[in-house]
Amino acid sequence: MAKNIKHFVRDSWLTASYYTGLSHLYQALAGRKHGVVSYHNVLPVSTLPAFDTYNVDVTAAIFDKQLQFLKKHFRVQPIQELENPLAEGIFLTFDDGMRNNYEILVPILAKHDISALFAICPAMVDGELPYIWRDYLFLLLHQAISQDVWLPLNGYQSLIRVSEASLNSLTRQLKQYVYSHQIADIYGIIWEICKKNQWSVGPISCDELRYEFMTWPQIQELTQKGHQVASHTQTHRVLRFLSQDEKKKELESSKKRLEEKLNHEISLFVYPYGSSAEIDQATVNAVDEAGYRGAFMNIQRPLLTPSALAQPRFAFPPIASSAHLYAIASGYKFSFR
Ligand SMILES: [Zn+2]
Repeated sequence: MAKNIKHFVRDSWLTASYYTGLSHLYQALAGRKHGVVSYHNVLPVSTLPAFDTYNVDVTAAIFDKQLQFLKKHFRVQPIQELENPLAEGIFLTFDDGMRNNYEILVPILAKHDISALFAICPAMVDGELPYIWRDYLFLLLHQAISQDVWLPLNGYQSLIRVSEASLNSLTRQLKQYVYSHQIADIYGIIWEICKKNQWSVGPISCDELRYEFMTWPQIQELTQKGHQVASHTQTHRVLRFLSQDEKKKELESSKKRLEEKLNHEISLFVYPYGSSAEIDQATVNAVDEAGYRGAFMNIQRPLLTPSALAQPRFAFPPIASSAHLYAIASGYKFSFR
């Protein structure tokens, strides 16, 4: 309840600040000059499914409104300017390379004449793994709704019931399990869960726009349209949990594979997940050694060096309120935390 009151006070304050011009004054004096927005999926639905477990989805209509907002209040820069430290304005980035990016999002970007950066995991495009592990866990549990399943959460000691209501919470608990045990071989856990439950490994019926990846021809078409591509590792595991050798492999082989398929240098990297829980100085050093010139996290003020390889990004919630979006894009919201 206290949290609700706190949110209510903050929301009212942000709205008041916007309509009295206070947040605009903040932007003029101390606001963000160079901002990178982080998005994932843009879906062709009127309301988001209840299963947006990791808050990575936005509807096409809200996304369109957010672009209108950004163009009205900020300068949205062409993505070619991203490596120019003097370029002031907002840049757009999209992680994971799901099919909705090509089919839903890119036409909306074209309508607004905006170019963006797409963070791609080549092993996923190559079909070496069917889904990013956390989506995979979600899809496995989703197909097991109303069933009792074996999960590592209790060391496979007893069956756990999966229900519509427990789906999100179980998926998050499994993610937490991976983090608390710092598991490098996350896909190994998935194979283990499949084996214990006698599930076959492979494609699961799902919303293809949300869970399946763009193809190489689609990604090549994006770059021909003026968009850029960054590496997002090969397999979307948590870099911090990997050995030095595994880090190196994820960073170098993804760069090499993208360069092979796109026929130009890949100099940018986007950290999977992107918070301090997943990235330490050794991770940034590995990105440096792999030859990247710029890398993006998902936090406001990364305290890692070199700063070009630990650049901040921010995300919008799936809402269209100008007062809220302005507070986030200007940095005003974070200035009085
Ligand atoms: Zn990602």
